[in-house]
Amino acid sequence: ARKFFVGGNFKMNGSISSIKEIVDNLNKAELDPNVEVVVSPSYLYLLLVRESLRPGIEVAAQNVFDKPNGAFTGEISVSQLKDSGINWTILGHSERRTILRETDEVVARKTKYATENGLSVIWCCGESLEEREAGKTIEVVSKQLAALKAQISDWSKIVIAYEPIWAIGTGKVATTEQAQEVHKAIREWLKTNVSDKVAEETRILYGGSVNEKNCGELSKQPDIDGFLVGGASLKPAFIDIVNCLK
Ligand code: 13P
Repeated sequence: ARKFFVGGNFKMNGSISSIKEIVDNLNKAELDPNVEVVVSPSYLYLLLVRESLRPGIEVAAQNVFDKPNGAFTGEISVSQLKDSGINWTILGHSERRTILRETDEVVARKTKYATENGLSVIWCCGESLEEREAGKTIEVVSKQLAALKAQISDWSKIVIAYEPIWAIGTGKVATTEQAQEVHKAIREWLKTNVSDKVAEETRILYGGSVNEKNCGELSKQPDIDGFLVGGASLKPAFIDIVNCLK
């Protein structure tokens, strides 16, 4: 069975004191042991979080470069993350795809480099409102998946996050039916294009305005294996989301 997974993407938020408070809350909380929890602060706070957070909760970067150490000003390498005890990274978040212009190919290349060098990856995909309204959701997500498949062969270090762009930070959560439909299509895509085993074993998270109120219903869907939480991961409500199966 797929272990339920809840990720907290802090994005470009927080200060030393607010991040310490989040870590304190997590350290004190009673968390469902059946849920894998990963939190992702800005680069600047990765070490602070890793060194103060209790063992058992993993820490993720929000991005990583696809080259070894060297002359790449402003970038961070996989080996630097691993050296700091950071075993995960998010890649291909829609904010990086749209604002920072990362293409499907760039995201796939980074995912390949990261996984081949020992990092686990929360790989994000999802459509814009315009694409959804044009009935192109499955097409867009399939194209993103195909670009990934063109570069990687080992899927064991990948968790997929389906994040419809129109649901991110808008308070407009996808309905359970809308989310389940796309999650099912992603699993079918994996079955057809990769293997039964990868389709069966890969966790598919939902992201986009998840909160402590809507997480329960979403978690009951057969193809929703967890969440990637943005805004609510900065609040005590994150603990309720982690515990949504209880
Ligand atoms: P919100 O939960 O703030 O909508 O953000 C979702 C997200 O982008 C997580 O990566």
